[in-house]
Amino acid sequence: MSEKKNPIPSKFETLEVSNFLRQIIDADLAQGKHSKRLDSSGKPLPSVITRFPPEPNGYLHIGHAKSICLNFGLARDYAHALNGARCNMRFDDTNPSKEETEYVDSIIDAVRWLGFDWIHEGVEHQHYASDYFDQLYEFAEKLIEGNKAYVDSQSADEIHKNRGNFTQLGTNSPFRNRSPEENLALFREMKSGKYPDGAHVLRLKIDMSHPNIVLRDPVVYRIRHAHHHRTGDKWCIYPLYDFTHCISDALENITHSICTLEFENNRPLYDWVLEALKEVGVFKDPLPKQYEFARLNLTYAITSKRKLLQLVEEKRVDGWDDPRMPTLVGIRRRGFTPESIRLFCERIGVSKADSWIDMSVLEQALRDDLDARAERAFVVLKPLKLIIDNFDANHSEPCSAPKHPHHEDWGRREFNLSKELWIEEDDFMIEPVKGFFRLYPPANGEAGSRVRLRHGFVIECTGYDTDASGKVIAVHANYFPDSKSGTPESNNYKVKGNLHWVSVKEGIKAEIRVYDRLFTDPHPDSGDKNFLDAINQDSKQILNAYLEPSLKDAPAEQRFQFERHGYFVADRIDHTASKPVFNLCVGLKDTWK
Ligand code: ATP
Ligand code: MG
Repeated sequence: MSEKKNPIPSKFETLEVSNFLRQIIDADLAQGKHSKRLDSSGKPLPSVITRFPPEPNGYLHIGHAKSICLNFGLARDYAHALNGARCNMRFDDTNPSKEETEYVDSIIDAVRWLGFDWIHEGVEHQHYASDYFDQLYEFAEKLIEGNKAYVDSQSADEIHKNRGNFTQLGTNSPFRNRSPEENLALFREMKSGKYPDGAHVLRLKIDMSHPNIVLRDPVVYRIRHAHHHRTGDKWCIYPLYDFTHCISDALENITHSICTLEFENNRPLYDWVLEALKEVGVFKDPLPKQYEFARLNLTYAITSKRKLLQLVEEKRVDGWDDPRMPTLVGIRRRGFTPESIRLFCERIGVSKADSWIDMSVLEQALRDDLDARAERAFVVLKPLKLIIDNFDANHSEPCSAPKHPHHEDWGRREFNLSKELWIEEDDFMIEPVKGFFRLYPPANGEAGSRVRLRHGFVIECTGYDTDASGKVIAVHANYFPDSKSGTPESNNYKVKGNLHWVSVKEGIKAEIRVYDRLFTDPHPDSGDKNFLDAINQDSKQILNAYLEPSLKDAPAEQRFQFERHGYFVADRIDHTASKPVFNLCVGLKDTWK
């Protein structure tokens, strides 16, 4: 019962939507900008090299999926370029205290799950910014020797104050004119552990009155006596992002370094560092270039690692992989497929303008993917007993239904109809409202309603039982023996209601977790809002349901359409054959308003 592959790839996945980044790459390819580069062993380098550079300080979320699909997707789609294309996996692990191996492993898992890898011509391109610490240090010394960097001994507060702001120019540090020799000696002492945290920093010597604050002598190294998850205690000075990132890109021969819009102001610094290192003979043209795109903002979700961590730490959700979380582990557990995430990313496209994408776009991508390949099943979520009084208690009538309505070749599900069945509680009403075509009892001299038990018989409601409190505990009906689905006589019966059902004898008990959106506000953290105020208190509901017998061996992570309800997945973690657990992935229609 393995999940069926969609025979025709979705048209959205093969459609290579053009975007401004593709136009830039096309123009670079046309000019042969990166066509003559060789690696250190003299082998030609791919004409397109991108990278995905997560900081391993949290779990990836749906926003990262956009960046992953973009960067790895470009490498996939430009495989035809001269010498091919690739996307490197790079852990941006320069910050010693926050990074953990657990996060590295989860990131690798998530990107692989989305269907990407970083193997090009048999070579794995998994890198760590911390692998470059030696080179970064060496290049910093070169900049010091070239009088392009200096050691500043002001306090953090002074540095902050003297940087100025949008209206006020910065002021030079009293240490700005130290000689290269003095700077070099101090920097080496910083490295050797002679000074406590915060005593000195290394800054680039650019321009304290530059209109772009980012260029006012940015700090590129600071002292941190901290353990690093990969380099241990080797270092007590650590490079900062703006220095590390561009150099890592250049060392990896990245051609197009794609990041989100908030780095737009840092682009001149990216270029400055690489140009300066070109001047001192470290790098040569063509240097990598940074391009910015708009980050994904998804309604009813948050995409900040810090806030997601808070939800986990304060136990407002059941962990990083809670099916309500927008993390990739959460989305996976919810039942999203990698194909649906890639489809979503294709549909939302890439632009330079910030915008909000509605959650319904993500949900629709999943529906479109699963409709074509999820097997169907009968599951009664809120069971109410139906007793067919004129049915022989010892008889079981074999019935069957296609696994998928458009794929008879997938085979059929078999189940039996018997005297006692489970139906949905809300498929019965004592006093039907207008337009209710399901089960209701005889009243005012009129017969009870007739409905078809799908793939079974037509029945007519004859009455119901209640308990002492008046709650309906069973519905009674009679069936018409000549009305069985699939027989010619069945056409004589015209009914408006069609119910799914599970026989009491063979129904399998299961826990069903019905999830709703985690927030009630489409923009839970915009402006001054506290996202915790917008948590949907009813976002998780547990139901005790009955499954049709064909679901007996459903493996964890298999997805189904429970007819008339929506798409459900056997929970990755908790589901077993003896204790089945299914999660609601998404309803059949977008009913959320
Ligand atoms: P956070 O702000 O939550 O800490 P981050 O952007 O710092 O997230 P990184 O690990 O640095 O997280 O992100 C890795 C890559 O994913 C970066 O290139 C970043 O631009 C991209 N990315 C992160 N969030 C989004 C998003 N919402 N939409 C698109 N790309 C994103
Ligand atoms: Mg970041």
